[in-house]
Amino acid sequence: MSSPIRLVLGSRNRKKCQEMAELIAPPWERRPWMDLIAVESIAAYPDVPDVVEDADTFAGNARKKASETARALGVWALADDSGLAVDALGGAPGVYSARYAGEPCDDAANCSKLFEALSHVPDDRRGAAFRCVLALADPEGNIRLEAEGSVRGRIIREIRGVGGFGYDPMFLIPEYHKTFGELSALVKHQLSHRARAFSHLRPGLEKLVSEAAR
Ligand code: IMP
Repeated sequence: MSSPIRLVLGSRNRKKCQEMAELIAPPWERRPWMDLIAVESIAAYPDVPDVVEDADTFAGNARKKASETARALGVWALADDSGLAVDALGGAPGVYSARYAGEPCDDAANCSKLFEALSHVPDDRRGAAFRCVLALADPEGNIRLEAEGSVRGRIIREIRGVGGFGYDPMFLIPEYHKTFGELSALVKHQLSHRARAFSHLRPGLEKLVSEAAR
């Protein structure tokens, strides 16, 4: 067999990268084409400069991260831009989710700021959605695939659970009576915005990987 196709994940967020790696080739969806790719993270390349995420949409930032990563390394690159859109805040923090409480990105500070912003919002108006846009670039930096996914939930009034990352411990999935911080990674991988985006991306990825491996 020829050498596998290198696919670099364009995110330095370790936990997000881990979720992406698990969702590209999940054990419950195992297919032969998945053995044709070797997944790496941009974190293995500290000399590659950070991409400035200055687009005002998830799609714009995802495309930018994928293209710039692909061009910098001359490999296929997959980027995820994601965030939390809270109904009572008109969709904020949205594309600014990672740095909602300022730089550097701090999950605990972001959660505290969101609790504060929602402190006077009644329980029946605390709906929110996680959104995720994925973009895949070829080694020349051209965007070849895009996919998106979202999941709705409710922002509770205290942190619950230690799993996941970011806003997970304050995001309740009402049907499960648990936050993403309390649900296992396996369950999050069935329900999440990222899981839904990956399920839309995988058929196109299979086609491209199969062609590139020929
Ligand atoms: P990005 O790296 O600019 O896409 O930032 C995404 C930010 O959105 C993260 O730092 C988190 O604050 C939030 N976020 C995205 N996906 C998730 C998730 O699955 N759980 C919790 N927070 C998330």
